[in-house]
Amino acid sequence: MNDHPLLLSPLDVGPFTLRNRVVMGSMHTGMEDRAKHLPELAAYVAERAKGGVAMIVTGGYAPHWRGWLLPAGSQMTSRRLAEKHRLVTDAAHEHGARIVLQLLHAGRYGYTPFNKAASSRQSPITPFRPRAMSTREVEACVGHFADAAALARVAGYDGVEIMGSEGYLVNQFLAARTNDRTDAWGGSASKRMRFPEAVVRRVRERTGAGFLVQYRMSLLDLVDDAQTWDETAELAHRVEAAGADVINTGIGWHEARIPTIVTSVPRAAFAWTTARLRAEVGVPVVASNRINTPDVAERILAAGQADLVSMARPLLADPEFVAKTAAGRADEINTCIACNQACLDHTFANERASCLVNPRAGHETTLVLLPVPPQRRRRVAVVGAGPAGLSAAVALAERGHEVEVMEAEEQVGGQFRLAMRIPGKGEFAETLRFWTRRCEVLGVKVHLGTRVDVDSLVGAGWDDVVVATGVRPRVPEVEGVDHPSVVTYAEALRGERAVGDRVAIMGAGGVGFDVAEFCTSRSHETAEAWMRRWGVGDPAVVRGGLVEKVHETPLRQVTLLQRKTTPLGKGLAKTTGWVHRTTLRDAGVEMLRGVTYERIDDAGLHVTVDGRARLVEADTVIVCTGQESVSDLAEPLRAAGVTVHVVGGADVAAELDAERAIRQATELAARL
Ligand code: NAP
Ligand code: SF4
Repeated sequence: MNDHPLLLSPLDVGPFTLRNRVVMGSMHTGMEDRAKHLPELAAYVAERAKGGVAMIVTGGYAPHWRGWLLPAGSQMTSRRLAEKHRLVTDAAHEHGARIVLQLLHAGRYGYTPFNKAASSRQSPITPFRPRAMSTREVEACVGHFADAAALARVAGYDGVEIMGSEGYLVNQFLAARTNDRTDAWGGSASKRMRFPEAVVRRVRERTGAGFLVQYRMSLLDLVDDAQTWDETAELAHRVEAAGADVINTGIGWHEARIPTIVTSVPRAAFAWTTARLRAEVGVPVVASNRINTPDVAERILAAGQADLVSMARPLLADPEFVAKTAAGRADEINTCIACNQACLDHTFANERASCLVNPRAGHETTLVLLPVPPQRRRRVAVVGAGPAGLSAAVALAERGHEVEVMEAEEQVGGQFRLAMRIPGKGEFAETLRFWTRRCEVLGVKVHLGTRVDVDSLVGAGWDDVVVATGVRPRVPEVEGVDHPSVVTYAEALRGERAVGDRVAIMGAGGVGFDVAEFCTSRSHETAEAWMRRWGVGDPAVVRGGLVEKVHETPLRQVTLLQRKTTPLGKGLAKTTGWVHRTTLRDAGVEMLRGVTYERIDDAGLHVTVDGRARLVEADTVIVCTGQESVSDLAEPLRAAGVTVHVVGGADVAAELDAERAIRQATELAARL
């Protein structure tokens, strides 16, 4: 008996039977925008289909150029293009998966000056004001959805998903905040629902039987002037009556100032909304958002909260998610840690989406870990069991090389072990579990508490040595930096040095922000406490589900400082930086920029700001001023004739970055 019987059980949905309950949710990878990338998209789809997912939803395709997400972005508007998509649909079908095309009209979220929307109200997250559609243009737009759906059928797709959540055009029609129309398509909540209803009905009529129509509905808008639960329920009834076979769910408009998918959002935090929808409709419903392990998915199904679960990023992280679950190898799943670093942050930077923990995602045709023939097998020593070392070891062993890892500490993990101590970053432990388990399965020996030197490495006669010895915290040259109150971020996070009630943090990069959260927040927060902290309410009580935030008293009084005059946190990642900035602001962290560090003494940290001396009273000063590479072994080994490869922070500390470290290590493994 498998531990995940419901997740692996088939389900009749619309015209066909899905082989299990896992839907790969829509994810814009950047391979959708140009026809020349379709072969790569097909390879990406093939890996996920082969890995057992029941149904894949593509990235969003505009039904008309006025609905582009980006200039000359993805669209499904011609038969010629549709026929080229056969590559992608065949790739899914060859491995037994269903695939549906997502129809996404960006409306006012289009990053172009050409977009049309329900009204001309500009979104706070785009620089362009859309033009309001005329009544005739709205009618034409309904037709464009139907045309695009018909083309999707030509392309071999099993159906379409109509993107009605996250604040895109269909969603814009539904909310008073974005629909001030006075024609038949606006005016009252009921009239605002006509657009999605008409789109679903026309798509259904146009595509006929044997074609799946999935509607993605926003269950919790998390913005002002949005929908109430009664309106959402009415919409669900109308969409179902119009011909939707299944309702997928979405949480929060993109302009909402409440995080919905980042790592600090508790797992399955919004499944309660899907459960409520399920009670309203007769068609299957899909739960989404922060579902990243088979156990979490199974629990949602067992609790009757949903019929299917949608996971997008977890299938970037591990295309074999379902196959491993089915084989009783769930402990070998490479779990998505919800960092957004290599997926959504790339998408927003107009780069190909990939995955921090799986750099092959989106690069299936170019980053290939081919098995090596026995005569080319190498004996490789990996020194250091942080992210770079462990990912190199696993990838090398997967190819068939003989690998041993030597780690000076008593535990694996390096910087990841520090990161997982930050409140809301516990998911990093999953990656360590994955690497550790894969090392066991692949027969990689990991020697903990083993500090190697040049002589022992030379003496062992390795074919290659991978130096992945990481970094040490940089200690700035400030008078009094050796005062007993000064600790490095590593000492503070490991609990090696106590942290007092008043804290000054020097350096406001990613680590400074993380340490400020560590100092102010409680490590274990329930989903209910998280909702209170972010002001997530019940849309049955308050429109859009927005309520006042309830702040808990921060654990400590913290001041975060930097020398630059730019706003603190400006360099943090696009999709997560604002969450960190808001969290610290809500925790009352004082932020000082443009400081000159003068000295540290019993009273605290003395600085000059705007030409004035200031004392930041502190019991503890935590140094988060970057890192320096530790790669002392490399040169002597090279001098002794050993083939040496330096990866991760040991190679470049300036941009210490797990994404680069893991990718570099995997690329090395692919080459050896
Ligand atoms: P960082 O981003 O380089 O920030 C360190 C800060 O310390 C600098 O911004 C600099 O700011 C200050 N500094 C540098 N040298 C100094 C010196 N000699 N004296 C005084 N201040 C000095 O390094 P980090 O915070 O350790 O982060 C490293 C990397 O980890 C980041 O690049 C990021 O990729 C990753 N990371 C990201 C996150 C996240 O996004 N949440 C979290 C953790 C880690 P001033 O010169 O302005 O003072
Ligand atoms: Fe998940 Fe991070 Fe990979 Fe994105 S980059 S899929 S959030 S682990």
